Amino acid sequence: MFKLTFLGTSSGVPTRYRNVTSLAIQTTLGREWWMVDCGEATQHRLQRIPLSVHDLAGICITHVHGDHSYGLPGLLASASMTGRKRPLIIIAPLAIRAWLDATLLHTELFLTYPLIHVDVNSAEVVHQETGLTITRHALSHRAASVGFRFAVETNKWKLDKEGLLAQGVPSGPAWGQLQAGKDVALDDGRVLRSSDFRLNRTERAAIVVGGDNDTPALLEQACAGAQLLVHEATYTEAMLQKAGPGPTHSSVQRVAQFAQSCHLPNLILTHFSARYHHREGMAELEAEARLHYSGTLFLAHDFDTYELDAAGGLSKTDALKPD
Ligand SMILES: [Zn+2]
Ligand SMILES: [Zn+2]
Repeated sequence: MFKLTFLGTSSGVPTRYRNVTSLAIQTTLGREWWMVDCGEATQHRLQRIPLSVHDLAGICITHVHGDHSYGLPGLLASASMTGRKRPLIIIAPLAIRAWLDATLLHTELFLTYPLIHVDVNSAEVVHQETGLTITRHALSHRAASVGFRFAVETNKWKLDKEGLLAQGVPSGPAWGQLQAGKDVALDDGRVLRSSDFRLNRTERAAIVVGGDNDTPALLEQACAGAQLLVHEATYTEAMLQKAGPGPTHSSVQRVAQFAQSCHLPNLILTHFSARYHHREGMAELEAEARLHYSGTLFLAHDFDTYELDAAGGLSKTDALKPD
């Protein structure tokens, strides 16, 4: 139902191993994809994965901090230089629009496509189309921050094989025609209507992607019925206590305890402080998470790709590896 590719997983500054925050989200609805946050040099990350900026439907920005937004002007300019025509939705705080307008003006950047700005604070439902609803949920951070919930619904149907067998129609060419949506005239004079032998099946899934936030419990409502939470876990609880209340980030423990209390089946942690960007550091974070959370857990690396299936199972795929 969802495929997530982490384009950046570092908090604050890029390091040799991790870029600043950005996440690509694909769904089973089609080729279009969405981006949540766009840290500096996100467009460089896109060059190394098979996603085109021309299929990008929209960009959601959780808050104004540079490690989540400084990649926007370059990405927009490059999309223009490669001939993008279709509109691009930008769901963000109002200040982002003002900043982009000023940048476009002062750098004489004339986009070949329109931007559709959506004020992230205008309503809880920030985007809706057939099969996809995006809502935003207020968080606690030193700049106003939100999390986004992506809910996908697909309707499929399959052939009612048992119904056909009950009517004395064995497996054969008639099944194929009914499957293809065609009515079938049998030798005995009966006419089988394709629509009478369809079993409809609706599949739903929802994921929540948090912005910077020191109070994961604010996402309780958003996480109800969701199968996956992606949340920042900037450092350990011990380091959070040492850093004091200023940074307004979450510790691994805080997020893990919240996910456990919500019975969330899947959790991906990201946005790690540069102090942990080595094997031992990540092991320390993971150990703290596993102490408090018993579901399926991953600590994201740049270019990691994860798939959430219709049954709510989360798996890491190795399809996208950087050079
Ligand atoms: Zn951040
Ligand atoms: Zn921030």
